[in-house]
Amino acid sequence: MFCFEIPMPWASSFTSALRPARVPPLAFTARFLRGHCIPTRAGSGSGSGPDGAPRGRARLRAWRWRALSGAFYRCAARQRFPRMPMALAGPLLFRIGYNLYAHTRLGYLFYKRQVKKARERYPQGHSVPQPVVFSGVKILPIPVLSNNYSYLVIDTGSNCAAAVDPSDPLAVQSVIEKEGVTLEAILCTHKHWDHSGGNAALRRRHSSCRVYGSSYDDIPELTDPLSDKETIVIGRLNFKALFTPGHTVGHMVYVLDGKPFEGPASLFSGDLLFLSGCGRIFEGTPETMLASLDTAADLAEDTLLWPGHEYAAECLMFARLLELENPVLEQKLQWVNQQRVEKRSTCPSTIGEEKQYNPFLRTHCPEVQEAVGMKRQRDEDWDSFRARVLKEVRLRKDVFKAN
Ligand SMILES: [Zn+2]
Repeated sequence: MFCFEIPMPWASSFTSALRPARVPPLAFTARFLRGHCIPTRAGSGSGSGPDGAPRGRARLRAWRWRALSGAFYRCAARQRFPRMPMALAGPLLFRIGYNLYAHTRLGYLFYKRQVKKARERYPQGHSVPQPVVFSGVKILPIPVLSNNYSYLVIDTGSNCAAAVDPSDPLAVQSVIEKEGVTLEAILCTHKHWDHSGGNAALRRRHSSCRVYGSSYDDIPELTDPLSDKETIVIGRLNFKALFTPGHTVGHMVYVLDGKPFEGPASLFSGDLLFLSGCGRIFEGTPETMLASLDTAADLAEDTLLWPGHEYAAECLMFARLLELENPVLEQKLQWVNQQRVEKRSTCPSTIGEEKQYNPFLRTHCPEVQEAVGMKRQRDEDWDSFRARVLKEVRLRKDVFKAN
């Protein structure tokens, strides 16, 4: 949520609280002072013209007041809202809000409230999921909160299942019961409550269930800390964990091997990669995030992308601002808009598709570089340049609002 990824309405209210109150125009201030402080003898006929304006000395006095009040006002405004601190206040408060969300109980309470509100607002989930079935495996997206996806991955031969980022335990439990499967593992991409908030409740219900993730993130109920490229086997399901920091310090993604099922691989990308988007860089540098995105881009083109959020429409609209003449992007946007009219889920896309329109996977493309007005400097390292482009694209996306 922060959304991109963690919803933080309170962060924006903090920021708006510090935003300078709407400044009254100078003319209004002068009028106010004139009306309250300057004796105009209105109505006596000697000091005012037909329109009520002061004459002679009264006019001079009014002019002095106007000048004085203007100078006073400008001075006061500068003292109250000096430019540099205001420029820093927004990001600083956002950072404070993020730390409260990610590292304190306040974040957990906020998450609980979000779950409750989402259950009331979307009793059937925010989107209509479209399960994918290959011979021996079933992948079920579970829409949770206001735009998150959890996933239940089932080995249909043994009825063993793994849940990815089960943030609303009730919603995930309901699918587990409906499918009649045994939950053997929780694969957690990162610590944010909208991805890890259901771990404890599901563990209480399924005591033999293991919880996988990175020990660099404070993942609730973590039983099996993972390192890069480690594999997790559940029945015939074979996942590879890939270390992809940037969004958080210990973010991991999981790649399900498709070979045993004669299908493509599946990437459960958490908040690393979305359809046409990527997660915010909360706990890393653009260089770190770029390396993590390259890890995803290096997967086979037909790898299915199962992201942590339903952000497709907004992300594609942003991408279109950068690449006006990208026919693949335009086609995908039209399809996504149609899906969203019917509240249908937009996942999965594929890594091959993403490389054609996702600006965060296209920092090497001249179109994207030109769109953000950046040129490689002489002797600049190629990846350093791409990291600069990524930083700029990410900054623009941070302030982009689709509507
Ligand atoms: Zn996150």
